[in-house]
Amino acid sequence: MFTKCVYGPVPSRRLGQSLGVSPIPTKTCNYNCIYCQLGKTTNFTNERQRFFKPQDILNEISIAIQQGGKIDYITFVGEGEPTLSKDLGFLINKTSKMTDLPIAVITNGSQLSSKTMREEMRKVDVIIPTFDAGNSKLFRYINRPHKLIVFSKLTTGLKKLRKEFNNEIWIEVMLLKDINDSIEDLEEIKEYLEKFDPDKVHISLPSRPPAESWVSIPKSESLAISQLILQSTQILPLNEVGSFDTSVFKTPDEAIFAITRRHPLQYSQAIEILLQFNIDNPEEYFEDLGARGIEVLDYREKKFIYLNETDHFRFRLNKN
Ligand code: SF4
Repeated sequence: MFTKCVYGPVPSRRLGQSLGVSPIPTKTCNYNCIYCQLGKTTNFTNERQRFFKPQDILNEISIAIQQGGKIDYITFVGEGEPTLSKDLGFLINKTSKMTDLPIAVITNGSQLSSKTMREEMRKVDVIIPTFDAGNSKLFRYINRPHKLIVFSKLTTGLKKLRKEFNNEIWIEVMLLKDINDSIEDLEEIKEYLEKFDPDKVHISLPSRPPAESWVSIPKSESLAISQLILQSTQILPLNEVGSFDTSVFKTPDEAIFAITRRHPLQYSQAIEILLQFNIDNPEEYFEDLGARGIEVLDYREKKFIYLNETDHFRFRLNKN
């Protein structure tokens, strides 16, 4: 199912088959991370707002659950920062009453210094906050936060979350070559991780084309050192395992456009999707799609397809 706010289930590297719920419009965020796979933040705000009618979102979640299909987690994730939806707590509560499926929230963590925000997370099974830098200067360089977000508040929020939240906290550290992968940078991050005391630490890599073309993946030696210093449970694989459920789409066009609207899609995954629709010659199919806005971009020696009408890639391609 790919509607206004709910998409999937889609394969997730941590959460199995994840039913994504985005209660905010595309690229609404209070960060403008250099590695964001959604590109440059176009709606840069730190104000919590109602973007969609909460009942419409709940209806979409309910329909997706009723459609069956394997769902491991219902994940509030957003095409941006989901905590900017002022309805998030309400949606989490109502969803937890609707189903026994576990609920995850993927967040940049910036709002967790607010007691209200932490209270809204009570029914969540797994919170996955991001923490990419162990000092304010590097935090501002990597995450480029809204001016009202300061590093000390971010770290205080994460410490308070651990004290008050009894379910799982999995911290994600996005590791970037020559930016936050030196021993000194890692040691600084580690000091904070010890205070946050998460259940898991995942190291993530810029697996899809990043907002800034100069962002890249660290060398394998540096990954091994990082895992040791951060005592990371796992380095997230660069590629997802599992497949997209396309049964809800009537046509291959519908599937390809709906998925690439959310994020760039590996060309090989796009081919798999087309094969599910019995398209005999997918290469030719893409030539045709090019005229309608789907383009191919090379990144880490792989091809990704994307919707070239998005601000993300207009921005990115202009910079290259
Ligand atoms: S990576 Fe997440 S937090 Fe950073 S700009 Fe993108 S959506 Fe916002």
